[in-house]
Amino acid sequence: MSQQPHPSPSALTAFAMGDRSDKGVVREHLATGCGTCLLAVKRFQEIAALEEQAKPRMDWVRPGRLPVSTFGRRDDSRLDLHYVTRIADLELDVLIRRRPHVGTLLVAGQLTIRRLAYEPAADVVVMLVDGNQEPVAGGRTDEFGEFEFEARIRSDYGLRITRGDTHHYVLVWQTDPVSV
Ligand SMILES: [Zn+2]
Repeated sequence: MSQQPHPSPSALTAFAMGDRSDKGVVREHLATGCGTCLLAVKRFQEIAALEEQAKPRMDWVRPGRLPVSTFGRRDDSRLDLHYVTRIADLELDVLIRRRPHVGTLLVAGQLTIRRLAYEPAADVVVMLVDGNQEPVAGGRTDEFGEFEFEARIRSDYGLRITRGDTHHYVLVWQTDPVSV
């Protein structure tokens, strides 16, 4: 067998990320059956995939939680969280209710327009997104500026609110030992 030097770590990383500007050098080297470099490429790809999963595309808006009042609740669902936060020219008021008996999360909210004395913001596109900011459900606010989603309980949920060309991502639900 001919002695073939290993490609540099940076060449292996670039190859693992899909860069083919090395004109086949890494591919030919891997074709010789070099287990060391094959393993290195696989590791880089696994790390890249994990980082891609973990990294939101946009920064989350993380609104502060308000104290939750349970007064007057008649059904067996639990009012877990209440947020009020500013999104561009709007104010977002969100209630999160957990319905453990059916395994769902109710996300209900209202958007109002701050400069118009908190008049309802009707017809605003609101999406429920998962922890990777991928849309799960969506709709538009009604004449009262209200929206509501019900979805299976999972680790993270956010709301995507679009104003002009900008998406605002608001993190509204994270499963953690404190909130459960
Ligand atoms: Zn090698």
